[in-house]
Amino acid sequence: MAAQKWWGWGLEGVRFAHEDKPALRPFIREVLGVDIARPGAAAPRWEDLRSEVPEPHLPDGLRDALIEAVGEAFVSTDALDRVVHARGKSLRDLVRQRRGDFGRVPDAVVRPGSEEEVGAVLRAALSAGAVLIAFGGGTSISGSLEAPAEEGRPVLSVDLARLDRVLDIDVTSRLARVQAGVFGPHLEEQLAARGYTFGHFPDSFTHSTLGGWIATRSSGMQSDRYGDIADLVKGLRVVTPSGLLVTRPVPASSTGPSIREMVLGSEGRLGLITEATVHVRPIPARREILGYLFPSFADGLEAMGEIAASECRVSVTRVSDAPETRFSFATRSDPTVIDRLKSAALKTYLSRRRGFDVGAMCLSFLGYEGSQGHVAEQRKAAGKIVARHGGLCIGASPGALYDQKKFDTPYIRDFLLDRGVAADVSETAMPWSRLGPVYDAVRAAANGAFAELGVQGYIMCHLSHSYHSGACLYFTFAFESSPGAEMIDQYGVAKSAIQQAFVDTGATLSHHHAVGTEHAQWLEQDISAPGVAMLRALFDGTDPGGHLNPGKIV
Ligand SMILES: Cc1cc2nc3c(=O)[nH]c(=O)nc-3n(C[C@H](O)[C@H](O)[C@H](O)COP(=O)(O)OP(=O)(O)OC[C@H]3O[C@@H](n4cnc5c(N)ncnc54)[C@H](O)[C@@H]3O)c2cc1C
Repeated sequence: MAAQKWWGWGLEGVRFAHEDKPALRPFIREVLGVDIARPGAAAPRWEDLRSEVPEPHLPDGLRDALIEAVGEAFVSTDALDRVVHARGKSLRDLVRQRRGDFGRVPDAVVRPGSEEEVGAVLRAALSAGAVLIAFGGGTSISGSLEAPAEEGRPVLSVDLARLDRVLDIDVTSRLARVQAGVFGPHLEEQLAARGYTFGHFPDSFTHSTLGGWIATRSSGMQSDRYGDIADLVKGLRVVTPSGLLVTRPVPASSTGPSIREMVLGSEGRLGLITEATVHVRPIPARREILGYLFPSFADGLEAMGEIAASECRVSVTRVSDAPETRFSFATRSDPTVIDRLKSAALKTYLSRRRGFDVGAMCLSFLGYEGSQGHVAEQRKAAGKIVARHGGLCIGASPGALYDQKKFDTPYIRDFLLDRGVAADVSETAMPWSRLGPVYDAVRAAANGAFAELGVQGYIMCHLSHSYHSGACLYFTFAFESSPGAEMIDQYGVAKSAIQQAFVDTGATLSHHHAVGTEHAQWLEQDISAPGVAMLRALFDGTDPGGHLNPGKIV
């Protein structure tokens, strides 16, 4: 954790570079009117802003009880530690962190090392009237981690990272008992040593944890094969104000409304998740991601819908719209002469022989996993559907490009922010029949917001997860903040327009980024007033004093 940036994404010392991506500068100049070669703002210096951090307010009795619970080494009031734990990584978070506007910083960071210690921390906090905010990797982009500005009680950030082990694998049932604070890479490493994979790979995988995934109802890139976190988690152990909540890792049960489902997405409001029993699978013999091109986004969406409805078993379904396809090609690292020739030949082939409008074509990826035979069969079956919709396989190298972009994308947001550009994402899910209307409405809403702000903006989209009955659309938008304007306010106009378009067109406020505070204003439109009342009753009944991450979701 020490190496994490407190003002941006990822690790200190790692930054996005555009110099090896020759097409990116002209692309961004064209679509945003910004020259990215101009020097950006320097990274904020901790020494300059350290004095902005409020002093911790930790009553002696509470400090002593926490030290007794976890040991002195695991109760920190260090200013930088507290600032790293104060927020997640949303655009609002990063803009405010960068200028030393740190908000209601927790008074202490507590690091329990066992479920018993988590229980002792909770009891100590409750008897002192303190607030507890569970902290996984701190990658929330929905404002799920920040204490309310007006919170007068002591605030503790409970960092679960010491709970990082795979405890046991029931190989007969393919179920693993895993501690909730484990980070993605460490989880996969431990499982791989036994020949298994969890198969949950969100873009934030390297810096996020199992507990955070559960508490936000996360979804990973290969969800088409493995399922979302809600499908993968079978049993839970949660330290709550009324004791240890345990749900059994049975495949299904008829025990009234699902308690397991209530914990999923609860954002730390019901308790601290200490352990989950999760579904694991043997590491597949073969993994492949192939690139495809479609003549249009509509063709690509129809093909993904048909694949989802068919007997094909793919691990990844992804199709970018034309604006995102252009962005993807612009982020390519230095192409060799051969690459250039190949790509020129491909363009000629597509336009002359296949009748593609090259400016409208859309890049797509399909992933296949399993035995050699299974992968070959699925490729063939999916390939037929792609061909029926005018698509064309362009081989495995775009899959490598996709991996490269996945790594770069989170860092590019900081790079753009250094140059006064706000860039962020909004994602949603809807039935297949609504994809077109939602897509059109969101683009119109974003472009309307850019016009209202008087800025040159860009919005692009991809389908990222498919289900039998619908899919997730993931939008990325960017614009240069106007001189003298407050970037967060301008961002709010664009973000709100997009979110409002989601709920107005029958889509959900978020497919996998959770509610937090960022999306809470759309909750009632999404789940109806009685739904909100039920959630309030659940949170109030479980935590009557409002000690657990107050103010999130409702
Ligand atoms: C660059 C980037 C890419 C992203 N890509 C994806 C993606 O592909 N898919 C996706 O689903 N999300 C993605 N996200 C969002 C984010 O990574 C997820 O919400 C993730 O699940 C958060 O996990 P975390 O461990 O970082 O939790 P945190 O951010 O630390 O916490 C999130 C919420 O969960 C609660 N919480 C955390 N741990 C526990 C626990 N043990 N018990 C109870 N409550 C707990 C916190 O209190 C908070 O409310 C991305 C975010 C960024 C910045």
